[in-house]
Amino acid sequence: MCTLCEKQKESIKHLSFECSNALNIWSWIRQIFLTSNFSNKDDLHSFIKSDGSSLVKLIKLAVITFSIWMIWRMRNYARFQDKIDVSRAISVIKDLTCLVGNSFKALMKNDILDSNVIIFCGISTPSSKVLRPLPVRWEFTSLGWVKINNDGVDKGYLVLTTCGGIFHGSIGEFIGGFSAFLDIQIALVVEFYGVIHVMEEAQKMDLTNVWLQCDSTLVCVAFTARTKFPWMFRNRWNTCLNYCGKIRFKVTHIFREGNVCADKLTNLGIIHRESFHWYNRLPFNLFLEFSMNRYSLPMYRFC
Ligand SMILES: [Zn+2]
Repeated sequence: MCTLCEKQKESIKHLSFECSNALNIWSWIRQIFLTSNFSNKDDLHSFIKSDGSSLVKLIKLAVITFSIWMIWRMRNYARFQDKIDVSRAISVIKDLTCLVGNSFKALMKNDILDSNVIIFCGISTPSSKVLRPLPVRWEFTSLGWVKINNDGVDKGYLVLTTCGGIFHGSIGEFIGGFSAFLDIQIALVVEFYGVIHVMEEAQKMDLTNVWLQCDSTLVCVAFTARTKFPWMFRNRWNTCLNYCGKIRFKVTHIFREGNVCADKLTNLGIIHRESFHWYNRLPFNLFLEFSMNRYSLPMYRFC
């Protein structure tokens, strides 16, 4: 005899699809997902595989899995300990499903079913702000100009800091690049040191039309405002500003996603650990990102 309802003979089919406890749980799920009744395991399979975003499919799988687990747990508790109230059981299923939903909320979309799932499962909602992809394209410079993308930060390897820069011609061709391993341990200073380094290389090459692009807003502002700094490399910074004042020079900001080649060169500084390494040829591991830039293919920033 079924220990839950004490009315019918116990079987897997009865426990799963006929007993009042199971019917109450399935009814709760049907209200959330606006779906038809579950009368056998094929109905459960169809429900899990039916249309929906990645998040909805994941939630469906989770809620069915936890429900089956809970029905069996209710049966065992009733037999060996005490009965679990069905509303308490639904509450536990909801909590567990919510846990899964919150772990994967990045999969969320802005559609009605997702919104229902978010509300019914109580998924917390900083995440209802859905991340949207913003295309970031690397831009070509004008004829006769050289474009330099620069990056210089501490890469999160504790005391290891590097900078790097890549020089492009007007059709995006690779002119050269460098990476430098630094012994400076202040991230902000490294950003400035990186642009000083790159502009010193530009000066050695006698470049007269230079477009510098970096992902540090602070560096861009400092160049534009010609800010003076009382730092250990003050003289080099001032020399850099003087050089920029004598040539056709502009500096602009680019999101990190559009500055990946410079970022990868900077990473090479960590690998090579040389105080300065110049690349006459494009390093192999930049090939993909460099090609995407030259073909104006976008990188994506999620915001
Ligand atoms: Zn029963």
